[in-house]
Amino acid sequence: EPPSEKFEYQAEVSRLMDLIVHSLYSNKEVFLRELISNASDALDKLRFLSVTEPELLKDAVDLDIRIQSDKDNGIITITDSGIGMTREELVDCLGTIAQSGTAKFLKALKDSKDAGVDSNLIGQFGVGFYSSFLVSDKVTVSTKSPKSDKQYVWEGEANANSYTIREETDPEKLLPRGTRLTLYLKRDDKGFAHPERIQNLVKNYSQFVSFPIYTWQEKGITKEVEVDEDPSESKKEGDEDPNVEKKKKTKKVVERYWDWELTNETQPIWLRNPKDVTTEEYNAFYRMTFDEYVDPLASSHFTTEGEVEFRSILFVPSFKKDEIMNTKTKNIRLYVKRVFISDDFDGELFPKYLSFVKGVVDSNDLPLNVSREILQESRIVRIMKKRLVRKTFDMILGISQSENKEDYEKFWENFGKYLKLGCIEDNSNHKRIAPLLRFFSSHAENELISLDEYVENMKPEQKNIYYIAADSLTSARNTPFLERLVEKDYEVLFLVDPMDEIAIQNLKSYKEKNFVDISKEDLDLGEKDEEKEKEIKQEFGHMCDWIKKRLGEKVANVQISSRLSTSPCVLVSGKFGWSANMERLMKAQTL
Ligand code: ADP
Ligand code: MG
Repeated sequence: EPPSEKFEYQAEVSRLMDLIVHSLYSNKEVFLRELISNASDALDKLRFLSVTEPELLKDAVDLDIRIQSDKDNGIITITDSGIGMTREELVDCLGTIAQSGTAKFLKALKDSKDAGVDSNLIGQFGVGFYSSFLVSDKVTVSTKSPKSDKQYVWEGEANANSYTIREETDPEKLLPRGTRLTLYLKRDDKGFAHPERIQNLVKNYSQFVSFPIYTWQEKGITKEVEVDEDPSESKKEGDEDPNVEKKKKTKKVVERYWDWELTNETQPIWLRNPKDVTTEEYNAFYRMTFDEYVDPLASSHFTTEGEVEFRSILFVPSFKKDEIMNTKTKNIRLYVKRVFISDDFDGELFPKYLSFVKGVVDSNDLPLNVSREILQESRIVRIMKKRLVRKTFDMILGISQSENKEDYEKFWENFGKYLKLGCIEDNSNHKRIAPLLRFFSSHAENELISLDEYVENMKPEQKNIYYIAADSLTSARNTPFLERLVEKDYEVLFLVDPMDEIAIQNLKSYKEKNFVDISKEDLDLGEKDEEKEKEIKQEFGHMCDWIKKRLGEKVANVQISSRLSTSPCVLVSGKFGWSANMERLMKAQTL
């Protein structure tokens, strides 16, 4: 027998295992979800690679996951026929932390300590392979990659800082392909090996895994067996009619046996009729697919027909995840004919400014071996993107029209910035984005208004939508620029978020009304009285020259203005210059 070689875990792994065991002890059952999700990933990888390398599937085994449990000995085995691991991959994947789920976990754990979040929530994160030690004293991973001739066994124990790897030599244990995990449960956790418990956990946590999951279950079949009539009984009756054929008696018996039972629903949820899917099912699908633990704010399930056919479910999350975690959003999962292709896009399928939206898209019109180049060039993808964006805006509009006002407030607080970014990046959708924007205004205390509300409140003679950018609501309220507008009872938008002004400047107009910055020098409120202006110029012209002389280069110009009513003077930006707010932004280099 080849000797087994001993390896030390990377230091972070030991720490992570410690953390997992200590923070998830009340939520141990997540181990099964994690291991099934790894099996499903491994099957996805195999199926995807086999599109271009069909020989990977030469060992004709079905793509599935099988879970067998032995409750007497407290052993669970989870077998998948996926991509497996080579010896190097075993070391890389199960001895070091380079993986997304685990990194997320560490982050969540840190945040939760700061914010005092219920540590049960952490159980909802993908904590990965090491969660198997929540319930196991010992774990073995026997795995065969199609890239290798040999099968290897990784073996590790709870609370150890090393593991071993050896070659699998037992012919009974050789796999055609894939991975078998064997969990030797801790004494107190042997209950997890109860087949019914396993079945319930699969149903709860892994119902949307797109490969069949079989569990090994005891079954009973009722059979009718013939039994001879009890001779004592017939004797009692005495005189039997010899002409009547002797009736055979039958008895029902239950025969017990063990067999694989399909335990999950394998039809992808997006293929079902939206009418038949409940909100709870969408939410559960969302949580599982995107590693979320809070239900989404909204979802949209649709099929498009015509030029390009595809099905999709899109979700708006309830809150924004930490920016750092968002570097790779992996928000849209593309399937072609139900085969998972990729979630690693760069704006080809979905615009980056909508990166907070999550969803699945399944198309029959793309080739299975769709490459990045194809994605970039494809007319089909362009059409899909357009439709997805429209559906997204419909969905957001739906939130804004919901009876429950808090929903949109929540949405805006979390994702308003993204829509403002959309004003800058996506000119073709200004019409869809603008009604979704919200701003503070001179007519509202502290709540936000929409542009539609603004337009509704416009005075009959008012032609423009007025705004002022400022660094706070207080300074916006106190600016002398407001005076004349307040007098006329014109509403003024207060752009206090640095992105507001840029968004507005990109929109240029809304419902044919131009956005006008009330701090710019040529503000015209449509009330010119030329006679009076002449008079004033005569009287104060010299004064302007004198002030300009005194201030020199500090100002570009000193002018008489009709825009103030009580303040003696105001500093304004030149017509073509940056507004004071933009200057502040440039200085702070927030752009
Ligand atoms: P994650 O799934 O977030 O990558 P895990 O800790 O769950 O992190 O798994 C670590 C890595 O181990 C996976 O990325 C994968 O490469 C490998 N792995 C785990 N389970 C399997 C499996 N059943 N088949 C193939 N590879 C696996
Ligand atoms: Mg995983």
